[in-house]
Amino acid sequence: MLWTLLTTLLLGQGVGAPPSGADSHLALDDVARVVEPTGKIQCPKVPLVAYRGDVIHYASPLRVNPDFRQRLQRFETVVRETATEVYGRPPTQILHLGSFNCRRIRLWPDYLSEHGLGNALDVAGFVFPPLPRRTSAPADLPNQLKRAFRVRIDPDWQATDGVAALHARFLHELAQRLVARMDIFRVMLGPAYPGHKNHFHFDCAPWRIVEI
Ligand SMILES: [Zn+2]
Repeated sequence: MLWTLLTTLLLGQGVGAPPSGADSHLALDDVARVVEPTGKIQCPKVPLVAYRGDVIHYASPLRVNPDFRQRLQRFETVVRETATEVYGRPPTQILHLGSFNCRRIRLWPDYLSEHGLGNALDVAGFVFPPLPRRTSAPADLPNQLKRAFRVRIDPDWQATDGVAALHARFLHELAQRLVARMDIFRVMLGPAYPGHKNHFHFDCAPWRIVEI
């Protein structure tokens, strides 16, 4: 099914046209994604900027396309809102496994990864500070989570017990809100998709796939 979708969008009229149900046209929609499946890969020259995070910082600076940077700012705002509802404060850092990286899609070597255009981010988790003094915590916040802590996709996404179950609730709520926002990411992959046990992959390819 994914193969059909990718083939239709990439080899058909999909490139350059906004995907159905998605948002406005992005400059990178016009870039061809088809590459030779083997050998040294050449990534198209596209604008890339260093980005540390405006609303919430990333654990290390990213290299991304300017359009994708704008999507990330919206993403950070959703993280801030969701985290504040669940934990009483936003994280200080977003842990990631990489942004720009010139490579193919592992499962589809005929295609350039969105990472090769600076149009993707792999999110592994979040770093939370201690609850600031005089901040009123949500009534159900365990005392343990008034101290500093980290949330990680692996293992917290699957958790059902103890404070990790609250982390699971946060991660699932965050994912649900992002899926509902057509103006942020177009592709959202997570533990439900092969090879994504420990991270969310977010990108703005010219098609929509949600397997989180
Ligand atoms: Zn990725």
